Amino acid sequence: MVKIPRWGTYLPETKEKTSGKLIEDASLSSEVVISLCQHIGAPCNPLVEKGDRVLVGQKIGDTEAFCSAPVHASVSGEVIAVEPRPHFTGGCLLSVVIAADGKQENVEFAGVSGKLTPQKVRCAVREAGLVGLGGAAFPTHVKLCPPEGKSIDSVIINGCECEPFITCDHRNMLEKADLLLDGLRIIMATVEAEKGYIGIEMNKLDVIRKVEELVAGEENIKVVRLDTKYPHGAEKQLIKAVLEREVPSGGLPMDVGALVHNAGTTIAISEAVREGKPLTERVLTVTGPGVKNPKNLRVKIGTPIGHLIEGCGGFEGEPGKVIMGGPMTGFAQFSLDVPVVKGTSGVVLFPRDQVEITPHGPCFRCGRCIRACPVFLVPNFIGLYVERDMIDKAEVYSVMDCIECGLCAYVCPARRPLVQYMKYAKGKIMARRKKTS
Ligand code: SF4
Ligand code: SF4
Repeated sequence: MVKIPRWGTYLPETKEKTSGKLIEDASLSSEVVISLCQHIGAPCNPLVEKGDRVLVGQKIGDTEAFCSAPVHASVSGEVIAVEPRPHFTGGCLLSVVIAADGKQENVEFAGVSGKLTPQKVRCAVREAGLVGLGGAAFPTHVKLCPPEGKSIDSVIINGCECEPFITCDHRNMLEKADLLLDGLRIIMATVEAEKGYIGIEMNKLDVIRKVEELVAGEENIKVVRLDTKYPHGAEKQLIKAVLEREVPSGGLPMDVGALVHNAGTTIAISEAVREGKPLTERVLTVTGPGVKNPKNLRVKIGTPIGHLIEGCGGFEGEPGKVIMGGPMTGFAQFSLDVPVVKGTSGVVLFPRDQVEITPHGPCFRCGRCIRACPVFLVPNFIGLYVERDMIDKAEVYSVMDCIECGLCAYVCPARRPLVQYMKYAKGKIMARRKKTS
């Protein structure tokens, strides 16, 4: 029986297979596929063509749109195609395919020179192609530019990593705690926030102790120990837990003076500003009962997930499901050729005998989904409306506030695909809004 508190749930953590393992460098794959759309916002236009030689860190895609982030080559080698390739969300998107030459020659990187100013930081972060590494992939430089009239007093670093199985932030924070704090200080100075918080769940006591030791004596930075509860890492829930402020329906964290950045992103901000390092690699976790040797890996962006699974000893048992991201919010994959993108926090594998395929039944109004929903929606009613294609009604019931945490579907004894209903309704409403704007 799943224990359900008022909003959220205590999930089985299942992190023990990788939480104690050091980050390893994944081997280079012979080919990387770098999607030109790895973020929320405008996709990039290619800056290279078939036959070009590229170096690690060379910009290969960009756009003039403000809400976007450039993409860079993660290996040195030859561009062998600029064409649509499989993307983790399904379908194919325009991508630059590079055949690696194994030399890993890189362009010269240089950190920001002279005194750091907000403008220099935003520029370095944009040029490095940084996006939220927790999965949302929102361009980081945009978050560092609060619009006029909005002031931010508190920056919160999201070190919750509340998804089961995934441990990449855990290891990254432990192994690069100094960069985590440097990144936080850079963000605070850039948005002129007085206070900095690092929210970490209690299942990462080693990180908590290390970071607390590093910030001892600093008045304006505090580590906040959080209950290990899903989805504490969701932005609005984290703000509520740390600052006791409620982001209004349809609002943004900056409406309550807060700014949230993922731990991995914060480390990448430090590296981009101090060293000029573009985002060509990231740390992720390959894990689950369906893989032989689970690991935390530093991986080149664009590496096919099949290559990573091979590097972890291959499948354990007959493959059943391969999920990119965590099991609650991730996407089941249709091909092992799908490449890692900037927002990929993990690849979770399940063998066939652990994948439940049962048809869903009718709602019998047990109310479990309502009790679990962290944003206090009524998923059962919204689901019934969506099933009947009554999207207007779903909108009235605030479906746009759904954070797609997947909890309603997880707790539903009738196995109703509630989160899929929410995503479907949100997609329809967004498309309609776009059409009429
Ligand atoms: S997926 Fe949406 S509706 Fe379901 S519990 Fe999460 S926030 Fe609530
Ligand atoms: S958990 Fe499932 S069965 Fe229970 S009220 Fe929600 S949709 Fe209905």
